[in-house]
Amino acid sequence: MNILIAEDQPVTALYLRRTLEKMGHSPRVAPDGEAAWRMIHSGEIPLLISDWMMPNLDGLELCRRIRSSRVGRYVYIILLTSLDRREDRLKGLRAGADDFLTKPPDPDELTVRLEIAGRILAVHDRLELQNARLAELASTDELTGVKNRRRFREDLELLFAQAQRQESPLSVILLDIDRFKEYNDAFGHPAGDQVLRTFGALLRESVRGHDVVARYGGEEFVVLLPATDAAEALEVAERLRTAVAGCDWPHRPVTTSLGIATSSSETPDESALVELADRALYSSKQAGRNRTTHASRLVLSAPLVP
Ligand code: GH3
Ligand code: MG
Ligand code: MG
Ligand code: MG
Repeated sequence: MNILIAEDQPVTALYLRRTLEKMGHSPRVAPDGEAAWRMIHSGEIPLLISDWMMPNLDGLELCRRIRSSRVGRYVYIILLTSLDRREDRLKGLRAGADDFLTKPPDPDELTVRLEIAGRILAVHDRLELQNARLAELASTDELTGVKNRRRFREDLELLFAQAQRQESPLSVILLDIDRFKEYNDAFGHPAGDQVLRTFGALLRESVRGHDVVARYGGEEFVVLLPATDAAEALEVAERLRTAVAGCDWPHRPVTTSLGIATSSSETPDESALVELADRALYSSKQAGRNRTTHASRLVLSAPLVP
């Protein structure tokens, strides 16, 4: 285990380091609280054995700092102290310490304390992994594996704000599968589901890694292209359209209609951008489907914001 020893007395630090090394750990030593804080901030230290009295930043303050900051992972803290009064232990616990060792630490006691730390850290690691998995699930569309609408909303808000700040264009492509109801009716819902899965995968593999692909709902998908102007977005959209039309679908050809909008400094907000893409998509449907329309080519007859 990576263990950090924060201890200002070289003799104690050396004793601890040797003992821990003999147990098979990889200890590092920081000579004061500030140095320890800098090392902990690198995020690779699961366990800290810290002296209480130290120059610059004492053990108690170091505990508080670690607990109130968002260091990448949980740091298990053992306070090393010659103070053994009840009030001091309470103070230490309040500051966020997990355990105490009285100086000079007895090797057997140290072993037991480290076993406890190891068990608790293992639980923390499992929880973190599960949380990451849950977050991933909560933002993924179950059927197609692309992002879901909730996550799309979040990404859109973020990317739109970023685009406006950097005065860089953000393009949105809305895609709606053509006559999908007929497909379902003719070949059944499971066959339709398979089309949606393949469609999602096709989109995902046709765009760049930092572009966002999401299921907007039903048989509608959306692609967000950061730092992409109208001409480039049109190119991407046409690539998507032809990839879908050219795919070897199991029962009969599948096509999609697309609508694009690109943000400028005049775009009031992200909803207006999606609304424009939606109008462009509608126009593609009206014009006969299996085609792409950019909103800049539309004659807007109704105001965007009523
Ligand atoms: P258009 O070309 O005008 O878009 O025609 P369309 O038939 O695709 O459009 P419509 O809105 O009439 O029908 C959408 C269909 O998409 C109806 C619905 O059953 C189907 N659909 C929506 N979600 C799913 C799904 O999760 N799985 C399957 N298999 N079908 C779905
Ligand atoms: Mg000291
Ligand atoms: Mg639709
Ligand atoms: Mg449709």
